[in-house]
Amino acid sequence: MREEKGAWQAAQILHRLAGAYGDPHWWPADSALEVLVGAVLTQSVRWQNVVTAIQRLKAYGPLSEAGLGQMPWPQLTACLRPTRFPNQKAKRLRALLEMIADGRGRTLADFFAADLDHRQALLSVSGVGAETADAILLYAGRSQAFPVDAYTRRIAQRLVGNVVPDHQLRHDTLSQVSSVDGLAQLHGLLVVHGQRHCQARPHCSGCPLAEICVSAELGQTA
Ligand code: SF4
Repeated sequence: MREEKGAWQAAQILHRLAGAYGDPHWWPADSALEVLVGAVLTQSVRWQNVVTAIQRLKAYGPLSEAGLGQMPWPQLTACLRPTRFPNQKAKRLRALLEMIADGRGRTLADFFAADLDHRQALLSVSGVGAETADAILLYAGRSQAFPVDAYTRRIAQRLVGNVVPDHQLRHDTLSQVSSVDGLAQLHGLLVVHGQRHCQARPHCSGCPLAEICVSAELGQTA
């Protein structure tokens, strides 16, 4: 595999991170609907808080589109309290479920089976940005998408030596990694890498990407 510094080499990064960390088994969820719920709840909050909120929802009743749609508001916001902004998250979740239902009880599986621009439909919901939409598309819809999150931005900036716009990261990744499994693994591996090595203050010793990292080469990692 060709090694080149100063460019976002998604396939090379996937290869190196998978070799170092193995399969991250990301996104952790029991169903596509749970992925969608987690993708909405994780905005601006630690993942452990999302896990707690989903456990509360499951304790209330089995996760289903209709169940979440009809859950009384006080109970819904009480379950989502660990996510810091329970009212805002509940509104977003309800709006997303309403778009999916489309006034005729459509399920998430029906939504993905429908002939429409799924990314555009998800982005049309207030509060659903590109990262959330792409996470839902990739992990719930099992379609080609790449969520660009804060970990990915930080790692890309250090590897390349410049800020890389989100749209370019998405485009370059999708043009280099074609399989859904590869894309799913890559996003999860970047999360792991951002937590273990490329933190706010990077730990470059032993980093599996050091050989292709411009910041490491220039000594700009302190
Ligand atoms: S070498 Fe350092 S800055 Fe570069 S990717 Fe690894 S941890 Fe991040």
